[in-house]
Amino acid sequence: MSRLFNFSAGPAMLPIDVLEQAQKELLDWQGTGMSVMEMSHRGKEFMSIAQQAEADLRDLMAIPDNYKVLFLQGGASSQFSLIPMNLASNSQKAAYLVTGSWSKKAVAEAKKICAVDVLVDTSDVEFSLAPDENSYSIADDYAYFHYTPNETIQGVEFPYVPDSGSVPLVADMSSTILSRAIDVSRFAVIYAGAQKNIGPAGLTLVIIREDLLARCSDKLPSMFNYKVLADAESMYNTPSTYAWYFAGLVFMWLKKQGGVAGMGKRNQAKAEKLYKVIDDSDFYANPVRVCDRSWMNVPFTLADASMDVAFLEQAKTKNLVTLKGHRSVGGMRASIYNAMPEQGIDDLVSFMQEFEQQNLK
Ligand code: PMP
Repeated sequence: MSRLFNFSAGPAMLPIDVLEQAQKELLDWQGTGMSVMEMSHRGKEFMSIAQQAEADLRDLMAIPDNYKVLFLQGGASSQFSLIPMNLASNSQKAAYLVTGSWSKKAVAEAKKICAVDVLVDTSDVEFSLAPDENSYSIADDYAYFHYTPNETIQGVEFPYVPDSGSVPLVADMSSTILSRAIDVSRFAVIYAGAQKNIGPAGLTLVIIREDLLARCSDKLPSMFNYKVLADAESMYNTPSTYAWYFAGLVFMWLKKQGGVAGMGKRNQAKAEKLYKVIDDSDFYANPVRVCDRSWMNVPFTLADASMDVAFLEQAKTKNLVTLKGHRSVGGMRASIYNAMPEQGIDDLVSFMQEFEQQNLK
């Protein structure tokens, strides 16, 4: 069997140990004679899977008891709407930072629901940095303050958690969750699509501080109401059971890797190795300010864009795939989430150096 090193931004690589375990359990989960996919979500078998997954996630992220963990559907994109629907009343404005394509989308969706103030928009510097901590201030009458700690397309990652004072801090952690240790108690809501560091697409995590549930209006459709979803333990409707189970396997795997602290060290080392090759060469370039570079998504360009196609084709012959940058920015992007092995980085780095040697004029 030949597995490729897949640098996709998501759905992305999953740990081989987890894929193998899921394969082993596919037809018959622990002697039940059933696949997890075939189980009732309310049966005791699936309930135990669901509860274990939540317990392991709480343990991994040290989620305090006064937070609910929701296993939802609809992707992070749905949360762009659910956040303002649930957290902002008619008379309140929400504050946002625009630091890349995803936060820009979050603002566009929020504006359909409530008034929005964009405190910083870094599009004037082509989303090449995270704004300095003291370059904006957050008035205390905002309904909430939203930012995107890691911009998946531009490869910009905040090196700090903003201090929003008494204003609830909301973070789209889709492409950074579980990649390093964070202090959950700093946040009011954390949300993430699963298909990068959690598991298969189709599952969306929402971690929400309980006091915020008091804000959710009864007028909201039940499926869009965090309080309804939390009261029903994410089973108001049939949840994405297989993805939930699979995420649970990933959480167990992560614990064996030394948890998020262990993962953080490895991720930093992986990213630094790749940025070094880029910075040491006149052939490759990354436009992001050094202190704000992402550990998860590493965009880079070649000195001559006409070589992009050859780069991608030759990379493929070395089992290095999905390196094409997002269509909106071009160039290359290597997404190197938790499940990307060190060997994938080493192979990519060797290939990049070889390609540079052959093509440097
Ligand atoms: N936010 C960020 C930061 C993302 O990277 C993505 C997906 N690439 C999304 C939101 C959208 O996620 P989904 O496709 O799960 O709706």
